[in-house]
Amino acid sequence: MSRIAYVNGRYLPRHAAMVHIEDRGYQFSDGVYEVCEVRAGRMVDERRHMARLQRSLSELRMGMPMSAAALGLVMRETIRRNRVRDGIVYLQVTRGVARRDHAFPPAGTAPAIVITARNLDQATIERTASDGIAVITVPDNRWVRVDIKTIGLLPNVLAKQAARDRGAKEAWFVDAQGMVTEGASTNAWIVTAGGTVVTRPADNKILRGITRSVLIDALAEQGLAFEERAFTLDEAFAAREAFVTSASQTVMPVVRIDGRSVGNGAPGPVATALRRNFHHHSEWV
Ligand code: PLP
Repeated sequence: MSRIAYVNGRYLPRHAAMVHIEDRGYQFSDGVYEVCEVRAGRMVDERRHMARLQRSLSELRMGMPMSAAALGLVMRETIRRNRVRDGIVYLQVTRGVARRDHAFPPAGTAPAIVITARNLDQATIERTASDGIAVITVPDNRWVRVDIKTIGLLPNVLAKQAARDRGAKEAWFVDAQGMVTEGASTNAWIVTAGGTVVTRPADNKILRGITRSVLIDALAEQGLAFEERAFTLDEAFAAREAFVTSASQTVMPVVRIDGRSVGNGAPGPVATALRRNFHHHSEWV
């Protein structure tokens, strides 16, 4: 089946879906994006994703390209046209097309919108989750506003490739203070020897993951001990469990960090249960 992309008001076959060479996303990474999980054909946690999109745009002094409700409709139509059942929908908004100049383009320049959707191989993801993943660590060399979900992801690209080169699935950024910030495309969590679930506060050194925020609500509902604080790499080495979260993988157990086993080297019971129950806590539209 040929895939369809939404590009600036039109649904186009993927081979014909193009953006302009002077799109500011292409030239300056001047844009933001969202990735929502699709489950049983329905978008997961749309409300939270739209709120984050609105915040990212406003931090870059951009407006919503259309109302959140209208964007939701287009995303659902893109999901439908691509017959996505379990996968992701990707949305990107840039500051539009204009002659190359670092400062903002003239007022009235239309933003450029691209939406794509695809199925993900759930059997492979489940197999990965039951094995758990290895992560490596890299110095956090990103700018100080990674709370904005911009399409400028070069450090994340390099970190993910470093992980791949070392046979791992994810890279954790570690800041100059020796604290783990987050993964290249995930938020980072540990479960301490005492059984407390820990993740870094949503400051400007991490992306405010939607999966992260849903999981924090889930932990409260399940009465699990939880601390929102930065943790060191040494704490992660000594943790009973570790895991990462993202919209495309929900809760993914981590079984090795820089080649050292976490806990007994197998996915732990807390991460496994949180993964199993995650969708009882998320909102499906
Ligand atoms: N941190 C980074 C750097 C990410 O790129 C992502 C997802 O793309 C996340 C965290 C997880 O965010 P979410 O749960 O909204 O997918």
